[in-house]
Amino acid sequence: MRNYGLFLVGASLLCAQERTVQPRVREILDAVSEQRIAANIQKLAGFETRNTLSSQGNAAARQWIAGELRSYSPRLEVSLEHFKLKQNEERIFQDVDLYNVVAVLRGTSLPETQVVVSAHYDSLNLIPLASETAESGDSVADRPVKYDWTKVDAPAPGANDDGSGTAAVMELARVLSRYEFAKTLVFVAFAGEEQGLIGSTLHAAKAHRESRTIEAVLNNDIIGGEVSGNGRVGNGVVNVYSDEVPDSPSQALARYARRIAERYLPSVRVGTVWMQDRLGRGGDHTPFQWEGFAAVRFSTPNENYAHEHSATDLPEFVSAAYTARVARVNAAVAASLAQAPKPPVVMEEAKTGALKGRLVPQISRGKSRYDAQLKWKNAGPETNLKGYAIVMRPTTAAEWEQEVFVGNVKEYLFKDVSIDDVRFGVKAIDNDGNESLISPYVYPPRVKREVPVY
Ligand SMILES: [Zn+2]
Repeated sequence: MRNYGLFLVGASLLCAQERTVQPRVREILDAVSEQRIAANIQKLAGFETRNTLSSQGNAAARQWIAGELRSYSPRLEVSLEHFKLKQNEERIFQDVDLYNVVAVLRGTSLPETQVVVSAHYDSLNLIPLASETAESGDSVADRPVKYDWTKVDAPAPGANDDGSGTAAVMELARVLSRYEFAKTLVFVAFAGEEQGLIGSTLHAAKAHRESRTIEAVLNNDIIGGEVSGNGRVGNGVVNVYSDEVPDSPSQALARYARRIAERYLPSVRVGTVWMQDRLGRGGDHTPFQWEGFAAVRFSTPNENYAHEHSATDLPEFVSAAYTARVARVNAAVAASLAQAPKPPVVMEEAKTGALKGRLVPQISRGKSRYDAQLKWKNAGPETNLKGYAIVMRPTTAAEWEQEVFVGNVKEYLFKDVSIDDVRFGVKAIDNDGNESLISPYVYPPRVKREVPVY
């Protein structure tokens, strides 16, 4: 199957490659059930509140989620990840036990490498203090509205925020747990997101402390709305937020998601946004970035601020069809990544020179000084490797534009190609056509030097 980027101008047009479609991934996409997602959203919204500090609601919700996950497959290892939070500020105004719900589908050949699919199951009804008036449900930091964080038992159905994401993660756990993957898939429903990304911060920090290898985090937050508060409508796009750092691991993951969606779900466009999140707002992918992991946020481009963090965030304002579409993008990306080889290693610690001790790209001008000589290492072990493809683009282009499959080699020379105005990357491809994330060659910025004068 050829992928000419059917409706995309400028994105994949120059990159018409043979693309392998995995029958198994298509089967997985077909198995994602809109009805089940709708039922999950309905059930989640039916808990009076899922506020992390509520007396009952959060416990009831997490027990239900864990029970459902356990019922899907005996191969899903389901647990409640427990943290004891100390009272510390207005949002966590009393000590509280926080529980993330975690379901692990252990990988077969690369089990130490994890692909995380997540959402937050807690909800919030953010009630302005009597002395303040809210202009809208917007939470952009510069709004001078103070809230009463102690109203933890107020109705907070959270159908869209983030019942939609939680419903999708549950459905993905159900469908993907019918299959085996090389890498480990981890499905997480976080708590404490609304108090400041608490559950994800603790989970990501623990993963870092335990030296876990998390290759990718696909976080889903507010993925059910297709009509914005001002009437803007659209359900053919899902925004994917990464960060603002050119060729960061999170941007590489966002590009991967876009390419996989083009391959398997050409009716849904992944709108890559080179921002960490919506302006001034947060999500559970960010704590993973703090720990050095590649992480992105899926979110609708059409939010309705009037319903967010209020008693009216109800299922009737959520489209299960759109949520299912976003869930299928997640499924395609997670299934592809979990079966793909590890990304090649292209950065190495410099042994000498001005950059000694820093990571530098294994790229040079070759013997001629006018060629592009690229080297990489296999991050393996890989048993089914076909070889490597090098990708290129001008430094100002958003997407990779050229691709050359160079075979099962660890270095390659492009004659007469300047390395001074092109970005390069390399990816590993296995015999079934599974592609790794692309590892870009990124030169570290020059460091300021102190110049002695007298
Ligand atoms: Zn949210």
